[in-house]
Amino acid sequence: MRLRRKPWIDTAILDYADFVTPLGGDWSKCAGAWQETFGRSAPLHVEIGVGKGDFLTELAARNPSVNYVGLEAQQGVLYFAARKAAVRRLSNVRLLVFDAARLTEVFAPHEVDRIYLNFSDPWPKKRHAKRRLTSEAFLERYAAVLNSDGEIHFKTDNMGLFDYSLETMEREGWMLSHVTHDLHALGEADNIMTEYERKFSARGAKIGRLVARRPSERL
Ligand code: SAH
Repeated sequence: MRLRRKPWIDTAILDYADFVTPLGGDWSKCAGAWQETFGRSAPLHVEIGVGKGDFLTELAARNPSVNYVGLEAQQGVLYFAARKAAVRRLSNVRLLVFDAARLTEVFAPHEVDRIYLNFSDPWPKKRHAKRRLTSEAFLERYAAVLNSDGEIHFKTDNMGLFDYSLETMEREGWMLSHVTHDLHALGEADNIMTEYERKFSARGAKIGRLVARRPSERL
């Protein structure tokens, strides 16, 4: 998602400081302290690439007993997610303007129970494969922060990225389940649509979905 930079957002986002740590904010004490941040012990689920937050805010509203952290590289889009969390008074949501390449700096080992990836940038050129959020390097970061039976829940309309992700996860020892190349054909009532999912499926695109469980520790 590319947005023209909107300077007013850098100030306006501060109105939602209870929900979002903006660019340049202090996240250094987050790792290992999420339960204290939320003021309770609860499962910790993380979305990477939150965008404007339709998915995360609806998910959090439906699951008040789960703590949710959303990471998004672009402040200009995360602002809208923070506003939605504030309007709905979602005390179980915290957002960070943050690059997921540094995931292990904001979560302690095994602190996370689930990671959601929705419509991640496909980076179709082979020389950009390392930037894909399901590349080996990213899977290693996820395995480091996920607990022993932690999962990735992934959706995308991009079948190139989907098949690449299936292959890479399988090769790296992740246990795949709930795999479909046409999620909407299943008619699952509890599917929460993301902004991209709504847009692309309206144009006739099929949506792939998979769940991958973390490999057990190698001895
Ligand atoms: N999940 C939303 C947005 C998808 S677009 C939806 O489904 O509608 C992908 C989003 O991931 C963009 O907003 C982009 O800024 C974000 N993103 C890409 N790489 C990232 C990274 N390394 N860390 C955090 N966010 C990232």
